[in-house]
Amino acid sequence: MNTGKVTLVGAGPGDPELLTLKALKAIQGATVLLVDDLVSNEVVAHAPKDARIVYVGKRGGCKSTPQAFIEKLMVMAAREGENVVRLKGGDPFIFGRGGEEVEHLRTAGVHVEVINGITSGLAAATSLGMPLTHREHAHGVVFLTGHAQKGAEALDWKSLATAARDARLTLVIYMGVSSAARIQADLLTALPPDTPVAIVQRASQPDQRHAVTTLGELAATVEREALASPAVMVVGDVVRCVALAGEAVTRQRVA
Ligand code: SAH
Repeated sequence: MNTGKVTLVGAGPGDPELLTLKALKAIQGATVLLVDDLVSNEVVAHAPKDARIVYVGKRGGCKSTPQAFIEKLMVMAAREGENVVRLKGGDPFIFGRGGEEVEHLRTAGVHVEVINGITSGLAAATSLGMPLTHREHAHGVVFLTGHAQKGAEALDWKSLATAARDARLTLVIYMGVSSAARIQADLLTALPPDTPVAIVQRASQPDQRHAVTTLGELAATVEREALASPAVMVVGDVVRCVALAGEAVTRQRVA
C-alpha cells in the first residue's frame, strides 16, 4: 500500500522567522527530508531528531544531485510509507523546478502537496524597504530567470524591456548576477541607462549585501562590489524607494 506522501515546502529566503506556520508544521512532521542548497540550517533544525535528512544541493563542494535521482528518491520513500518533505529555497513554485517535481510525483501516483514560501525576490525588495508595485512607479511585477537559454526557449529580452518600459513593470531577475553584462545590454535595447537597479545578495540572511545602481552601470557595479549568487536584481522605478539609496553596499538584517 502506498500510504506515504511528499510535501514540497517553501523554506523561504533564509531568515528562519520568515517560515510559514504551515511549513514549520510539515517540517516537524517529516520522517525524510530532501534539502536543497539554499535552505538555511536554522530551518532544517526544526526537523525531528530521528528524521532522515538528505542534502541534495551542492553543499560540501559536491556536484548537485541529478534531478532524476531526487525524483526517484521521493517516489521510493513515499512508497515505503515515509512522510517526505522536499525543502526548497524561497517558494517551491518560483523557479527551482517545483512544477516538474509535482508532475513527476503525480504521474507516479504519489500523493503530493505544496506549501508556499516567501520567494527571495520579495524578501530582497522588502529588506531594502521598497515595494515591487507602487501606484506611482510600477503597475505590475515580472519574476524571471536571467539564466541563458538557447533557441526557441530563449527569453525575448527586447520585448520584455519594451513591456517593462511601456507598461511600467518591475523586473525581478533570479539567477542573473553572473550574466549581468548580457542582461544589461539586452535591457538597454528599450530601457534607459538611468533606470534604477538594486542587486541583493543573500537576502534576509545575516550576511546580506546589496548595491543600488543604474542599468547603465549594472555589470560594472556587480564586478566592483563582487556581488555573486545567490542574488536577485530588481530593475525599475520602485528602486527609487530604497530607504538607503545612494549607499553603495551595506550589510543589513531584516529587523
Ligand atoms: N525558489 C527560489 C528560487 C530558486 S532559483 C525562490 O523562490 O526564491 C535560485 C535563485 O534564487 C538564485 O540564483 C538567486 O537568484 C535566488 N535566490 C535564492 N535565495 C536567495 C537569497 N536569499 N537572496 C537573493 N537571491 C536568492
